[in-house]
Amino acid sequence: MAWQGVIEEYRDFLPVSDKTPIVTLKEGNTPILRAENLKKKLGINIEIYFKFDGANPTGSFKDRGMTLALSKAIEAGSKAVICASTGNTSASASAYAAKAGIKAIVLIPEGKIALGKLAQALVFGAHVIQVKGNFDQALNIVKAIVEKYPITLVNSINPFRLEGQKSASYEVCDQLGFVPHYHALPVGNAGNITAYWKGYKEYKKAEKITSLPIMLGFQAAGAAPLVQGKPVEKPETIATAIRIGNPASWKGAIGARDESGGRIDSVTDSEILNAYSLIASIEGIFCEPASAASLAGVIKLYKENYFKNGDSVVCTLTGSGLKDPDIVFKVSKEPLKVKAETQAVEKVIEGII
Ligand SMILES: *Cc1c(COP(=O)(O)O)cnc(C)c1O
Repeated sequence: MAWQGVIEEYRDFLPVSDKTPIVTLKEGNTPILRAENLKKKLGINIEIYFKFDGANPTGSFKDRGMTLALSKAIEAGSKAVICASTGNTSASASAYAAKAGIKAIVLIPEGKIALGKLAQALVFGAHVIQVKGNFDQALNIVKAIVEKYPITLVNSINPFRLEGQKSASYEVCDQLGFVPHYHALPVGNAGNITAYWKGYKEYKKAEKITSLPIMLGFQAAGAAPLVQGKPVEKPETIATAIRIGNPASWKGAIGARDESGGRIDSVTDSEILNAYSLIASIEGIFCEPASAASLAGVIKLYKENYFKNGDSVVCTLTGSGLKDPDIVFKVSKEPLKVKAETQAVEKVIEGII
């Protein structure tokens, strides 16, 4: 049977009833891919799998939570949704609001926003407001607005977001047919790592699985409040989706780490870009820089002899590289220019093959 979207597929695990109108773009069921080439190239003795959530309808895992957030907002009679976002949340909220036929209001912070993400919010018809401040300030404003107006907040502090995002952990187990030893994720606001851990625990409680993975979270070195143990005033990283100084789900991330016996560590922008380029050039997956923090972190821990021979590690690739294609030019050369003559092209080709 055709895939129904995460709410219908995992209804028993989600807070919906027969009365909940389902708003879906048939999100989920994203590919899980074994990284054979990577294993050979790096000469490593662990099995790495990529869960490519950039293959969701708006190009990021945010859709998993947004289907539930919008469905519950409609059930509650809401006429609009609002979020503060550096990109993917706004793209997803705008698309699901369009599908639901209600308004979306998006506050974007100052500074570089990936053009693809902004384009999505605009084309889906959201009302986009840029505030002269950072993400954390924009989120504070949004929180104040929903106190006063009948608008639903759809940032990850909306508990339905995390409920929907749990579905990714169910899919990992269902697709692999086993529970990985480790699950690695990039960490920004820390909602996703919180959601995965909750999902794994609930799947075990329901006896769908018999073990739990160890959770690994990776922040960018310039935006690593969880690693430093205190908020970061001016977070900086090329990985804009995880450029967050004071994560909303701080406790959830620490809980996932400590209950599973895992780690939250940081990776530099250059480690992130290396992983980003590697994933694309040898595995054929174009993810966002933030997504690549998961593999960058696994490589870092591998070098510290953290893993055992044969361990399985799932890395979630959270978003699509097409969102922010400019970054490619930091890791790849510009196309070669030659005369429009067969000979000229032949000369180049002879240097390639
Ligand atoms: C939102 C996002 C993240 C960070 O997820 P959190 O739940 O905020 O930790 C990472 N990568 C991408 C592509 C994202 O859109």
